Amino acid sequence: MFEQLTEFVDRHEKFVTSTHVNPDCDALGSALGMALLIEARGKPARIINSDPTPERFAFVDPNSRIQTFSGTVRPEQDEVVVVVDVGDLKRLGSLGDFLSENPRPFACVDHHKSNTGFAEVNIVQPKACATGLMLADLATEWGIALFPELASALYVAIYTDTGGFRFSNTDAKTLRVAADLVEAGAEASSLATAFHENMPMGRVRLFGHVLDNLHVEEDGKIVWVTVTLEEMESHGCDRSDIEGFIEYMRGIAGVEVAVLFREAEPGKTKLSFRSLKDIDCSLLAAKFSGGGHYHAAGATVDEGLEGTKAKVLPEIRTAVRDGKVQSEPRA
Ligand code: 5GP
Ligand code: MN
Repeated sequence: MFEQLTEFVDRHEKFVTSTHVNPDCDALGSALGMALLIEARGKPARIINSDPTPERFAFVDPNSRIQTFSGTVRPEQDEVVVVVDVGDLKRLGSLGDFLSENPRPFACVDHHKSNTGFAEVNIVQPKACATGLMLADLATEWGIALFPELASALYVAIYTDTGGFRFSNTDAKTLRVAADLVEAGAEASSLATAFHENMPMGRVRLFGHVLDNLHVEEDGKIVWVTVTLEEMESHGCDRSDIEGFIEYMRGIAGVEVAVLFREAEPGKTKLSFRSLKDIDCSLLAAKFSGGGHYHAAGATVDEGLEGTKAKVLPEIRTAVRDGKVQSEPRA
């Protein structure tokens, strides 16, 4: 299953692992997990992400292994790169630009069905609930016994990318692997607590404010909200504080599609799409050069909130009215 990646790792000597911009916990846990696996196979690995780890997710990286790409922190000439949980080169941010300008061998391990196959070696399994699950399989394939640091990183990745074993991508294998990880030292309760509790007050207030402005269309089948930079700043929030809002919106009875428009910077809007049943969010996101999964996808549009809404909302209405964005079976 991982032959090409195994050859890649055995062929090279020094590694940098990385993941997508705005890293979430699957991204962080997988980038750390990949580095730990390469080290366990006997080779040095550093972790360099384009964006810093949000304060709230620092618990995923208890030994502060993850560095942020900069003028001085970047892959050296003799280091090759393994990226994880990244569906296209754009999602690699400044490290992706660096790799385009300073080409060197790189591999990708990912579970997005929209993965564009942009690396030299691409291991893509859309059926895997999380990239972290693929890495647990890789540990088995490489004969690496799970140890607490690795087990915790992979557990967090799997736990969070399945919405706490809630999403439709949770299957028996997910739970079996999770059990193995707990047996190997991942502390299920404290990791879940670190993720869900300890919520900054500003985030709660911002969420209240956002929900106050919830827009409901098509008899409640569509819900959408916007979050401006000013609203985030005035509540002392960063983008990691927005994580989870959209899952809550999807949880409202009768909702088929939830959309969140976040002002990423003036003139730039980050879109998040979530669905429950027969609307393929990755196809919706693809209309705006994004991607993701069947029930969760995103994109970034070079336009302000109003312009983006004017483009996106008609597509959502069409999808809900005509079921036009239904496609292949869910992955
Ligand atoms: P979120 O809405 O939480 O940012 O992302 C939901 C899913 O869509 C994640 O799996 C994420 O990796 C993917 N995704 C989000 N934004 C983009 C994007 O701009 N491009 C692509 N290809 N995938 C995205
Ligand atoms: Mn993921």
